[in-house]
Amino acid sequence: MADTPLFDPTAFRLAPEEAALADRVREFGATVIAPRAARWDREASFPTENYRDMHEAGLLGLCIPREEGGRGAGYRAYCLAAAELGRFCGATALTWNMHVCSTLWSGALTDDLEMDAALRAEHRRRRRIHYDRILRDGAIYAQPFSEGGAAAAGGVAFGTTARSVPGGFLVSGRKIFASLAGHADFYGVLCTETREDGERLSRRNTLYLAIPRDAPGVVVEGEWDPLGMRGTVSRNLLFRDVFVPEDAALMPPGLYFQAATRWPHMFLTLSPTYVGLAQAAYDFTIAYLRGEWPGMPPVKRRMYPTKQIAVAEMRVMLEQTKALWFQAITEAGPDPSKAQMLRAWAAQHTVMENAAAIAAKAVRTCGGQAMLKALPLERIFRDARCGSLMLPWTAELCIDRIGREALYEAGETDE
Ligand SMILES: Cc1cc2nc3c(=O)[nH]c(=O)nc-3n(C[C@H](O)[C@H](O)[C@H](O)COP(=O)(O)OP(=O)(O)OC[C@H]3O[C@@H](n4cnc5c(N)ncnc54)[C@H](O)[C@@H]3O)c2cc1C
Repeated sequence: MADTPLFDPTAFRLAPEEAALADRVREFGATVIAPRAARWDREASFPTENYRDMHEAGLLGLCIPREEGGRGAGYRAYCLAAAELGRFCGATALTWNMHVCSTLWSGALTDDLEMDAALRAEHRRRRRIHYDRILRDGAIYAQPFSEGGAAAAGGVAFGTTARSVPGGFLVSGRKIFASLAGHADFYGVLCTETREDGERLSRRNTLYLAIPRDAPGVVVEGEWDPLGMRGTVSRNLLFRDVFVPEDAALMPPGLYFQAATRWPHMFLTLSPTYVGLAQAAYDFTIAYLRGEWPGMPPVKRRMYPTKQIAVAEMRVMLEQTKALWFQAITEAGPDPSKAQMLRAWAAQHTVMENAAAIAAKAVRTCGGQAMLKALPLERIFRDARCGSLMLPWTAELCIDRIGREALYEAGETDE
């Protein structure tokens, strides 16, 4: 149940600090986050109170390096904590991912990448500005990358552009599905630096800039009334010649391209939320069929063979999902091998598709009363369905890449 760790520390040989963090986040999720989850979902409103409490609990600075005032959690520790949070409110866990990645990517991840000493010193000075805002003021950072075309899928350069001007950049463009839109204090925008010589936009010239929410030229637009993940408030963002100073950079020029190429597990960080949702759907089913769900009559449904079979099938899927995912997050790091990449895509695909499948089976197995909005299962079911759509590693694109990479070595063609 919810008081049992997703990953038993002894069985999965967690480091003591990973186990302690997972425990703390699970407790926080059960007591603070869970009671509010239905409200954000019903209203499609942003969980502002959650973020205030997460700041107080030290969760906004979780992945900021210790020497820069944060908790210094690494990639795997974060993933395990985020999965625990996902059990209680998918929307909060998913937006927390956008925020945390702003610090994880600019922090531990860039420490693994190549920069000369002067550039690294400058990067550390700049990231400190962002980290101080988060630690001191509880500033929230969003990650609006998607534009509706192939850029967020990694296929072409971002159409949002940054033109170098004295002291900074002028940013113009449009982002869709910007989680935390209107609520984040900074939008960590991926955009392409334009060159004077008219050179075509290139992915190598991607910049990662934190744009303040109230900068002149920033507009939040559009409705937000989706199927699931309603509390993410992922509306559209328009940037019209928005000026940002050079210190807005979350990574130096060229570093995002290097990160995406050399540290691709950075894109697996959307999956922990859905591991949590898969576990939540399973846990609900067990409690419900045992007649132990709080507030429901103590009617047992566990004695029917068909329900036992369904639970067994759910358990098999859950174990497969967690085992593969745990291996993938354990081996995340710079310059993964081909086998590790195939595994990472397989893990992402498995988590996203299985979370939706487990939640669907939970609805069918628990029966009619279980899908009432007074209970969390129907929200889990809708939230879980959204995972496969997340670029750049949608379920389809994972299959696409696994198939191609498994059959072709680098540079091979059929010409
Ligand atoms: C709840 C939720 C929250 C989100 N939050 C954020 C956020 O904070 N930041 C953010 O940047 N994005 C966010 N997204 C957006 C998400 O990552 C995708 O970008 C979005 O779902 C794509 O929508 P689309 O209709 O443009 O998709 P699609 O049309 O599926 O994809 C867009 C483009 O990707 C390429 N593509 C897609 N599928 C394939 C394929 N099989 N083969 C080859 N190319 C393909 C194509 O060029 C296509 O035009 C969120 C999405 C959801 C559902």
